Amino acid sequence: MSVRVRFAPSPTGFLHIGGLRTALYNYLFAKHHGGECILRIEDTDQTRFVEGAEDNIVEICRWAGMEFDESPEKGGAFGPYRQSDRTELYRKYANQLLESGNAYRAFDTSEELDAMRERQKNAGIAAKYDRTVMRSEYTLGPEETQRLLDSGADYCIRLKVPVSGDIRFNDIVRGEVIVNARDVDDQILLKSDGFPTYHLANVVDDHLMEITHVIRGEEWLPSTPKHVLLYQAFSWDMPRFAHLPLLLNPDKSKMSKRFGDVFAKSFREKGFFPDALINFVALLGWNPTSDREIFSMQELIDAFSLEKVNKAGAVFDTKKLEWMNAQYLRSTEPLHLIPALQIILKEHSIEVTDERAAKILKLLRERITFLNEVPTFGAYMFSDSYEIDEEYKAKHWNAETAGVINAVLPLLKELNAFDHITINDAVGAYSKEHGIASKLIIHPLRMMLTGKQVGAGLYETMEVLGKDACIQRIERFLQTQG
Ligand code: GLU
Repeated sequence: MSVRVRFAPSPTGFLHIGGLRTALYNYLFAKHHGGECILRIEDTDQTRFVEGAEDNIVEICRWAGMEFDESPEKGGAFGPYRQSDRTELYRKYANQLLESGNAYRAFDTSEELDAMRERQKNAGIAAKYDRTVMRSEYTLGPEETQRLLDSGADYCIRLKVPVSGDIRFNDIVRGEVIVNARDVDDQILLKSDGFPTYHLANVVDDHLMEITHVIRGEEWLPSTPKHVLLYQAFSWDMPRFAHLPLLLNPDKSKMSKRFGDVFAKSFREKGFFPDALINFVALLGWNPTSDREIFSMQELIDAFSLEKVNKAGAVFDTKKLEWMNAQYLRSTEPLHLIPALQIILKEHSIEVTDERAAKILKLLRERITFLNEVPTFGAYMFSDSYEIDEEYKAKHWNAETAGVINAVLPLLKELNAFDHITINDAVGAYSKEHGIASKLIIHPLRMMLTGKQVGAGLYETMEVLGKDACIQRIERFLQTQG
């Protein structure tokens, strides 16, 4: 049977980085097995619906390089793929459970339910619906139930959980999970407004959409026993389950906004490359080897297996993500980055040819983490009005250096070629001949030409700046020093 998996987000806000990982693991698993990865939008909880959330999910997944085989946008043989378009179906299946005796009607008002919880809290017991005490079909009896139905009273449909006994399932990540039915609540399946809860809709859809593997975050693990009971009640085959480890803050608490951005779109806005973010996210809880960090999407697909997903929570280390982004910046062919770089430069009102942009990028990328640092970090590449780091200047500029630079300047002027090797040879020869340490020339030149201490190799920088610009900058600086 071919593998079919689904990413099933609820459109309740922007896609969280944890959601991106769930989508990715589903995608990698499907592609590894030559199967299908589908997008299903779980929007039955109208109270939590957020306008634009679905678009954000679709857009980010696409930006990250994941195309779904079936989705609300694309359609497919198992649609519709938005649960709000399938509500009739869930009602039908809820009724089927009523008929088979696996579910029942309950007429409690929200006040009655609140009072029940209060009683249980005071008694120090876990909140759980008690169908033998509350206003369920079981306490009301068939006649009163019918009377209420005829009078149009509100009711919901609940799952009839066995009173005791083990509920078991095998999780690919966590191994065998056993829960006693005693600890499972009679979950509401269909609410009084006729809308299903997540549990019913999720199981019905996974079955109808022929999902073979349910890969989702660990926070859904407590729901799985209910799902197992539903599969049994319907006499349906169960998919296999894989619950992914939690994402943790550096202090090992559950990843939250408190520690910075958790939305995938924020990483995009900061300037992370999709490939780098995907590479990083893939390794949050999974790694095929212990010594390799850099993987392309295809390499991730080739290597992926659920068996290698860890149980332990994965710490989200922003420093490592930044390191990874820098790796991508350095290893990507500069020409491929030029369209994106040109957009960034335009935003800074900088106009340069693609060829020059590529040269500048090649030079600066060893020193920066993001492409969008080029116009700021490399301001001196684009304009004469860059700032001079006064501390750096104080360290490397005095009357003596002025003399040295005044002597080196004509030498530079005389050079016919202005590539870094020629400049290096010329400065080298001068320092040797006059017994002057080359750093006494290099630092002042760097300070005058770029304004700051950190940067690419000086002679390479001079080559890209060009002879005219270098000479002008040096002369202008000498003049301002009187
Ligand atoms: N709609 C659930 C969510 O928002 C899906 C959980 C699952 O994959 O079953 O994450």
